[in-house]
Amino acid sequence: MSARILDGRALARRLYLEIAPQVAAFSKQYGRPPGLGIVLVGNDPASEVYVRGKVKAGRDAGFRIDVERLPTTASLDDVLALVERLNTSNPHDGILVQSPLPPSVGPDAERTVFDAVTVQKDVDGFCSANVGRLVQNRAVIASGTPSGVIELLVSEGIEIAGQHAVVIGRSEIVGKPMALLFLHRHATVTICHSRTRDLSALARQADILVAAVGQPGLVTPTFVKPGATVIDVGVNRVTDPLVIDRLFEEGHPKLAVFREKGSVLVGDVHPAVSEVAGALTPVPGGVGPLTIAMLMRNTLATARARAGASGT
Ligand code: NAD
Repeated sequence: MSARILDGRALARRLYLEIAPQVAAFSKQYGRPPGLGIVLVGNDPASEVYVRGKVKAGRDAGFRIDVERLPTTASLDDVLALVERLNTSNPHDGILVQSPLPPSVGPDAERTVFDAVTVQKDVDGFCSANVGRLVQNRAVIASGTPSGVIELLVSEGIEIAGQHAVVIGRSEIVGKPMALLFLHRHATVTICHSRTRDLSALARQADILVAAVGQPGLVTPTFVKPGATVIDVGVNRVTDPLVIDRLFEEGHPKLAVFREKGSVLVGDVHPAVSEVAGALTPVPGGVGPLTIAMLMRNTLATARARAGASGT
């Protein structure tokens, strides 16, 4: 059996078809497009790629997207000053601080910076007020990656209520909000993490299994109940031939990519899982495009709320 592939790119395209006319209508009504300020500190290559993706998708849909850069040497005060400028900037309806921040800003800086983003512009849903609302099931804005997963499951007609959802990973930006969104949709939820014992046995109980860890191919077929839905959030660039050998059999298309480029993008789910799962998201082309589409939807929502509040 080969799993049904859940195409995140196709759903993202459909979401942009809904969002773009609403962005155009907003721009016409208020004389300016909804605006997003992206704070990018340092030059982490993966962050550069993610930010380029957000800029392109946002501008294509009609948003104003500004990337505000700070050098790798920036201090926490520098980052907070930039966030404060965006907090009070009228054309910016949303603020996104690209994670990870470089070590120069100090330990626990990310928490401080996320909390500095005003709740009205927190399009990632990472500030304490928005996290609190999410816990209480009254979130206006929820983090893009887990919301994108829910959007995909709903659009594919995959039942959530009453199902057992197992989330591997407990980060603030993916694992925890993912578990809460499942809970609010009446799933029975298990959260697994780096200290979980007998991970594969717990994962095997899942009707819906989400892997958000950052370890290439961690989820092997023994983790998966036959027919389960498997959502691969992990994005890992692999350059180690030993890892490649463990993941891909001769003839797999990604082997050719690796041999040509010296690296390949893989998820947390081993390719052999496609023989056991009922449905599976690919990497790339699964959760990633939806994360960006949800970010844009959140930016439109904060723009409308701000415009409505100011009456402009
Ligand atoms: P993180 O490093 O903050 O968290 C990883 C989590 O995995 C932790 O909670 C940890 O307890 C758990 N973990 C680590 N080793 C484990 C193990 N052996 N068994 C079980 N659990 C283990 O990472 P994150 O920010 O949540 O991101 C996770 C992955 O998702 C990364 O690959 C990241 O690149 C990717 N990601 C993708 C998108 C997207 O849009 N597709 C968005 C965000 C993150």
